[in-house]
Amino acid sequence: MSNKVLFSIDEEKMMHLAIKEAEHALHTLEVPVGCVFVDQRNGRVVARSHNLTNKRKSGIFHAEILAIEQIYAQEENPEILLSNCIVFVTCEPCIMCTGALRICKIPRVVFGCINDRFGGCGTVLSINNDQNLQLGTTFQCKAHVMEKQSLGIFKKFFMRVNPFKPPEKGRKNDSRKRSLLEKASSTNIKKLFKTNQKSSDLTFLKKNKQKTGNLIFGSEMGDLKNEKEKEMETKKEKEKEIEIEKEKVTEMEVELEKEKL
Ligand SMILES: [Zn+2]
Repeated sequence: MSNKVLFSIDEEKMMHLAIKEAEHALHTLEVPVGCVFVDQRNGRVVARSHNLTNKRKSGIFHAEILAIEQIYAQEENPEILLSNCIVFVTCEPCIMCTGALRICKIPRVVFGCINDRFGGCGTVLSINNDQNLQLGTTFQCKAHVMEKQSLGIFKKFFMRVNPFKPPEKGRKNDSRKRSLLEKASSTNIKKLFKTNQKSSDLTFLKKNKQKTGNLIFGSEMGDLKNEKEKEMETKKEKEKEIEIEKEKVTEMEVELEKEKL
């Protein structure tokens, strides 16, 4: 078995196929993640899939798991084939899928956007290259390939109502937050913070930066927070000045009253 790349694979072309799968998921109200498995020895696409967690009513039916399932169903030597497959997936594989890809001895994974909630290839955990795990083989990743397109599909998905999503307890300001996300994706995010008074929105938008399609980095968020704090301070100072003025006026009125007496 060799992991040597014997065939030159057009990464963008393969990622484009993965995006097509994600779009298919979007149109069928599934979480829009798509993937293709490509035999690195000859460039052949051996499996393509997208999430089916809603249709199959289980959180384990991710695109990568389904592609592995396809290969086992169709190929004569699935293990050898998988150990020669490069995986192209629109979003960073989650912890579960990264474990599965290691067990299948996948040599390399190329992905679009990061998965900041469940990412198993460096964002939440680094399952892909953890030498301490006795699990198949480690693999290398290449991130941010056609990231904008992958994020774009997510953005479209999160702007819609997912009818299969169970209601979250204690989630009161859902419609307000949805409109905040819509604004964040259509307007300049700095402007939004300047006009928005709630500091909790800052945390909310930071958590949901992937949904807005705006990649906001820590320092930029810090700047925004500082700007907002400064604005609040200025506002408070102005209010204080007004209070002082009011007091002065009252004092003058009292003086005038005294004079009358
Ligand atoms: Zn997964």
